[in-house]
Amino acid sequence: MGRVVYVNGAYRPHAEALVHFEDRGYQFSDGVYEVVLVRSGKMVDTAPHLARLGRSLGELDIQPPMAEAPLRVVLNELIRRNRIREGFVYAQATRGVAPRDHFFPGPVKAALVCSARARSWPAAGHKPAGQSAITLRDERWARCDIKSIGLLANILAKQKAKEAGAAEAIFIADDGIVREGGSSNVWIVDEAGALHTHPLGPEILGGVTRAAVKRLAAGAQIQVNEDRFDREFMLGASEMFITSATSFVKPITSVDGATIGNGAVGPVTQRMFDLYNDHTLSAAD
Ligand code: PMP
Repeated sequence: MGRVVYVNGAYRPHAEALVHFEDRGYQFSDGVYEVVLVRSGKMVDTAPHLARLGRSLGELDIQPPMAEAPLRVVLNELIRRNRIREGFVYAQATRGVAPRDHFFPGPVKAALVCSARARSWPAAGHKPAGQSAITLRDERWARCDIKSIGLLANILAKQKAKEAGAAEAIFIADDGIVREGGSSNVWIVDEAGALHTHPLGPEILGGVTRAAVKRLAAGAQIQVNEDRFDREFMLGASEMFITSATSFVKPITSVDGATIGNGAVGPVTQRMFDLYNDHTLSAAD
């Protein structure tokens, strides 16, 4: 059985997954998306992902194409039809199909496409390797809290990182503050073993993994500071990692060629990795 995707009300073979050329997502990036981790055939942290999808839609004044409960049914059906045990699901909603015009169209129905893909995730007890990152000027728009499909600045930054042999590009604001990665949130560990990450706000996406790691750290008596720090503070950190639904807790051991801490994956990072990985193995809902 080949891959099956969901396109505007129907399950279709992947090769026939077509949307209209006047879908506003295609012409204006007028839409939002979510990526949800799948472990043991189940979605992880579904509720916060669907809540964020609803919030992103609301911020753009797009009517949800479907309520949360039926959307869960569609995503689970894709997991089933594609026989996904380990992987992720993708859901994208746009303002719909209408003759091209910048103004919002009249009452058109929002468009919805969803897919599921297999990918293997780390086993319990895995020791993640340290990765490198580069820093770049944050050239994105001022509403990074909306999970928009408009990702030009992100893809340009991530491509630069790839060409530099790095795992992630980290956006630095014009005032020198470290914001987040091209597709992840950024964390550092200070010399006292406390975590620091950028506070929620329009400058960053409120990661679902970020929220889980914050909660897990609190449960492990690890202090979390949601504060602004600059590149220099980051380069002087004892440890550093990035988080996202598909990168888990990913250790960063060098930035722009400079070693972070002693260059090895540190104990706090490994602890957060273990806690988060266990969470994904147990918290599928
Ligand atoms: N920031 C950005 C810019 C992202 O694209 C992502 C991944 N979607 C994240 C942060 C992390 O979000 P999450 O933990 O919900 O995957």
